[in-house]
Amino acid sequence: MKTFQLKIEENKDISHFFTLKTKVIARYFFEAKTREDLINIKKYSLEKKIPIFILGGGSNIAVLSGKLDYLVVKNNYLKLEIIDENEKEAKVLISSGYPVSLLIAKSIDKGLGGFEYHQGLPGTVGGAIYMNSKWTKPLTYFGDNLIEAFLVDKSSSLKKVNRDYFNFAYDYSILQKTKEIFVEGVFLLKKDKKEEIKKRANFALSYRKTTQPYGVATCGCFFQNPGGVSAGYLIDKSGLKGFKVGGFYVSQIHANFIVNDGSGKKEDLLKLLEIIKNKVKEKFNIQLEEEVVIM
Ligand SMILES: Cc1cc2nc3c(=O)[nH]c(=O)nc-3n(C[C@H](O)[C@H](O)[C@H](O)COP(=O)(O)OP(=O)(O)OC[C@H]3O[C@@H](n4cnc5c(N)ncnc54)[C@H](O)[C@@H]3O)c2cc1C
Repeated sequence: MKTFQLKIEENKDISHFFTLKTKVIARYFFEAKTREDLINIKKYSLEKKIPIFILGGGSNIAVLSGKLDYLVVKNNYLKLEIIDENEKEAKVLISSGYPVSLLIAKSIDKGLGGFEYHQGLPGTVGGAIYMNSKWTKPLTYFGDNLIEAFLVDKSSSLKKVNRDYFNFAYDYSILQKTKEIFVEGVFLLKKDKKEEIKKRANFALSYRKTTQPYGVATCGCFFQNPGGVSAGYLIDKSGLKGFKVGGFYVSQIHANFIVNDGSGKKEDLLKLLEIIKNKVKEKFNIQLEEEVVIM
């Protein structure tokens, strides 16, 4: 393997890649721009016995340790190609590093519907498949339109799998267990009038803007909805809206959003999470579990 081609940096400050805006140092760092980069960096990590961590848009990760003792791979692999189509639908191959915002803009432009309710979802296609990210009005999951995908498996081989492989569920895909790398997905999208797709995208975005804090440093919903009950409701009814520890606070607009005012330290966040969990447990006898990936 030509490892000399892999530009790996050490002890790199990667704080700016995370929407929560806490301080994060990567022990090793690599930027992947192609399918081959993703395969080769996995090979390299096995060869050097360094655990690998794939970073998409960093919008669902809270780094509480301050340092990632991993080979962090920032996924900037961009590819979007219509591979088959008829008058009603199109099969589109989309790379994992593709930003969801750009994907929606492109699909509106091409008159392809299927992703538009995720308008406003930060991050990449890979992260959205890993989390099976969702939207509730109407209930839509990011994995809904996936037909098949290419993954890099544990031994660094490229493998093709179909949708069933992912075992998609609420906040879940099999990648959370296998830690395989999602490289590309083939999605089936429906042809529609651009204005209609745009209307649905705008509806989702304006609903998001009225119900969630927008343009702030956050990971989105921090906790999973236990048994379908809204975690935001439980936190709100525990009297915690606006509650602040250091630089971190519970949003006044949506109580499941934890926001960093810019000065937040990891210790503040840890304390705030503990208080939220204890108060909700005390009041409702419900144990909140994080939706966000904690590192
Ligand atoms: C303002 C805001 C609003 C949000 N709204 C929503 C919402 O409406 N619905 C919702 O579900 N979530 C929401 N989120 C959470 C988050 O944006 C989503 O979960 C998003 O899809 C994560 O994508 P990402 O690329 O940022 O993943 P990251 O945060 O970078 O990574 C998340 C996990 O996925 C893994 N991963 C990333 N790429 C790959 C890959 N190619 N292969 C294998 N594993 C990979 C990472 O290793 C990590 O474990 C919101 C977050 C914010 C900040």
